[in-house]
Parts: sequence; C-alpha cells; structure tokens
Amino acid sequence: MAKYLALTNDRVTEEHLHDLITSIGGLGGDVEVRQSGARLLLIAEALAAEGLEAALTACEHVRTVVDADLPHPLAGPVADGGRTVVRVAGVAFGAGRPVLIAGPCSAENPQVLLETAKSVRDAGAAMLRVGMFKPRTSPYSFHGLGREGIALLSGVRDEIGLPVVTEVMSVRDIDLVAGVADMVQVGARNMQNYSLLVELGRAGVPVLLKRGLAATVSEWLNAAEYLLANGASDVVLCERGIRTFDRTTRFTLDLNAVPVVKERSHLPVIVDPSHGTGVARYVGPMSAAALAAGSDGLIIEVHPDPAVALSDGDQSLDFDEFAALATRLRRICSALGTGLEPAPGLAPARP
Ligand code: PEP
Ligand code: MN
Repeated sequence: MAKYLALTNDRVTEEHLHDLITSIGGLGGDVEVRQSGARLLLIAEALAAEGLEAALTACEHVRTVVDADLPHPLAGPVADGGRTVVRVAGVAFGAGRPVLIAGPCSAENPQVLLETAKSVRDAGAAMLRVGMFKPRTSPYSFHGLGREGIALLSGVRDEIGLPVVTEVMSVRDIDLVAGVADMVQVGARNMQNYSLLVELGRAGVPVLLKRGLAATVSEWLNAAEYLLANGASDVVLCERGIRTFDRTTRFTLDLNAVPVVKERSHLPVIVDPSHGTGVARYVGPMSAAALAAGSDGLIIEVHPDPAVALSDGDQSLDFDEFAALATRLRRICSALGTGLEPAPGLAPARP
C-alpha cells in the first residue's frame, strides 16, 4: 500500500476535496483529512503509488506531496534538494546570511532588558532573545518575569526595533506570548512536549525549536514534524548542545548536527553556543565554528554584568565581548562570501 501526505493551501474548498477523494476512490484508495492550521493535511492511501501521487499533484490547491513512509515526511529533505527560507518579521533564516540573535538569558528587570537590547542591536544583532518564562532545574531559582515580562516586551520591541524571540513553556501561555513575540522558542526541555507542539502548530506562529538535551537528530526532526503537521509553516531548528559523558563543559555542542540536519531536512538550523558550552570564553570559538559548519545563525546570551546575572551568567558575554564577537563574525562571514543578516528596521509600532 502506498501512502502519501499532502498539504493544501488555504483556498481549497469542499468541492476540490470531493473531486480529489473521488479520484483517489477510483484507484481503490482512501483519504483521511485533517485540519492543519489554515490548510488541510491529507493522508492518502492506495495500492498504486504513481496513480496516487498523480491524483494528489493534479489538484491545483495541493502544495506539497510527500511519501508518508519517510521518517519525518514534512520536515525531511525536499525532492529537488531545495531549502526553506523562514522569514520572521523581515529577518530571513536560511537565505545565505547568518542571523545573529542575542540578548539576556532572562529579563531580570526592565533596565537589564532594555540596556541589553540596545547594546546587542547597536553591535549588529538582527533579533533579540530574552526569556520571560524560564525552565529552571530548581523550583526555588528565578523563573523569569512571566506574564509581567511579556507585557514589558512589546514596548521594548517597539523601542529598539528588533524582532523578538522568547520561550513559551505552557500551552496556557501561547496566546499571550504569540501576541507579542515574533517567534516563539520551544526550549530543550520541551522538545518532546507533544501537546505544546500541536498547539503551537495550530497557532501558526514561527517557532525556534531547540534540540532536546538527550534527543537524537531523528527525534528532533520528528518534533518539527509535529509542528508542521499541525499547521506551522515557519520552523527554525536550533542545536544547543547535548548531554554526553563529558562534564568539562555544561553540554557538548554537536556541530555535526548542522551538516546532518541540512542533509535530512529542508528547514534552517541555527546554533546556540551559550548553552552548548556553558562557558563564556568558549562562545566565540564555537560561534566561529558554527558559521564555518554552515549554520544559518547563532543565538547568544548577553548580560550587562554576567557575574551578577540571575540565570546563566557563566555563559553570558558582556556588552564589549559581544560587540567584539559580532565584529569577528562579520569578518568570518565575509571570508565565507556572505554577510550577517541585517536587522529589519521595524516600524516603531505594531497594530
Ligand atoms: C534559553 O534559551 O535560555 C534556554 C533555557 O535554552 P535551552 O532550552 O536550550 O536550555
Ligand atoms: Mn539561558
């Protein structure tokens, strides 16, 4: 039995669907129809693979047809080897220029957030990162400013003019976070939180999907598959280090993942050398290595005074260190025949 997945566009009607189901029925096959955001996901089966594929492709409102028996059909490589460019508020991931994302691990207070945001913008970051809902190992640690922080974020975004990526930990907070953030981060600890992935897919918001700290590349790409199957179209992967036997560094940054993902997926992949090493002085070398390996971007933690940071101070760069690194990364990009993705120049206020 051949099995294919097909994604429609949002203009498909009951009538188109009826015609398609009839033609696949004529092949002795069957179609299961699922809502996938504004589109439909068709899961079609029939004995004759060629006829089935042709029937799906013949429908003018079907955009993607893939073999459902592939390991992660929607996240996997596309037939012509093409790569997806994910655009987030004017910032392009995967278009050839690496995207530099930077900011504090957590927004400890409005001053730290604003000061850091301005500093990373002036140093050349194209996007701001900041944690408002922080997953922490201890329940007694600082967990971010939460809802209050999200309220703060929209003003900061407008003031500095950079798009923002921030983490959502719970299905409960998706609407709140997606209402302000340009991109929502799924943290390493939530990579296999399938109910969160399903709801984020349905929300249709751009997602930065971090690799779980003990996840194989295949599990990670299947997590992306959950997002894509449920309606997401803008997914960027992020390698952030995995747990190995070696405790010299906080995690082991798996740069193999960059070329491996590029072979096994059409999605852009960026690297987080801050969590991947846990040590500020290793962030520069591993950023350089990530770009050389073909990473579509970097996400780096920066704090005005890392020694007193409430989370991840050991791996955070101060303002001068980040500015120096950004200069070095620009040089590396030009040696690689490209440049860093510029900040998009957002309009000051969003509707
Ligand atoms: C973070 O980005 O601050 C973070 C908690 O990342 P990760 O989920 O990769 O640990
Ligand atoms: Mn952090």
